Amino acid sequence: MEGKHYFCAMRGIEEEIIRILTEEGAAFIRFTDITELPPEQNRNLPRAVSFGITLTPSYVQKVKETPDYVQMIIAQNQIEEDEFHLKELRAGELADRIAELLVLEGYQAYSLSDNNVIATHAWDAENLRTLLPQKTVAVLAGAGWVGKNNLLITPAYGPALTLGTVLTDAPLHIAGTQPMESKCGACRICTDICPAGAIYGKAWERHIPREERIDIHRCTTCLKCLVHCPYTRKYLKCRE
Ligand code: SF4
Ligand code: SF4
Repeated sequence: MEGKHYFCAMRGIEEEIIRILTEEGAAFIRFTDITELPPEQNRNLPRAVSFGITLTPSYVQKVKETPDYVQMIIAQNQIEEDEFHLKELRAGELADRIAELLVLEGYQAYSLSDNNVIATHAWDAENLRTLLPQKTVAVLAGAGWVGKNNLLITPAYGPALTLGTVLTDAPLHIAGTQPMESKCGACRICTDICPAGAIYGKAWERHIPREERIDIHRCTTCLKCLVHCPYTRKYLKCRE
């Protein structure tokens, strides 16, 4: 009987997480096993919630059509209203909220929101690196692969998403997912379009260090490699 109540309570939490994220328009929500990660990355927590919130096609189109979009919004002091910026914040807030919900239910939980990562000293500002990139968890969850542009690429939305992640010991129901292989193939669009020359053009494979694929210190976050990726184009085309 106790086991049955426990099962029902767990299903209730899972449903609540899915409800919260679905209401926010999450494009994918996955529960995944992260036990294969080292303890400094998974914090001895065995599972994770990984989700993605899409950028709107109109926003992607606007960035694409504006030659120096990011410089423009910086010059016009409009960063605070930028959709990418707002959705990154929103994904972080949602991850924090889900972590709080799990803690209230008596589980351990750790949000990979920017605020929490910085507050818990898991952000290396000198090397622009976190202890556990959110895309690493999304890859384990089978949501996509890491593109030559170092962004998570999903088959349906390309890299046009912001990510949220929560690590936990809650016994979430884990679907049998397999990490995807890179589907970048011979594509060089992001490599050729990057104005900073930051992308080396080497296809991602798990365990190949980031430094062999991209010079992150050169990246100006101009978003060109995001909006011009053919998987982003496919997403826009599907929404037309
Ligand atoms: S965001 Fe811009 S600068 Fe950074 S890797 Fe992509 S194209 Fe290059
Ligand atoms: S632009 Fe091409 S190479 Fe770059 S991430 Fe997208 S599919 Fe991969």
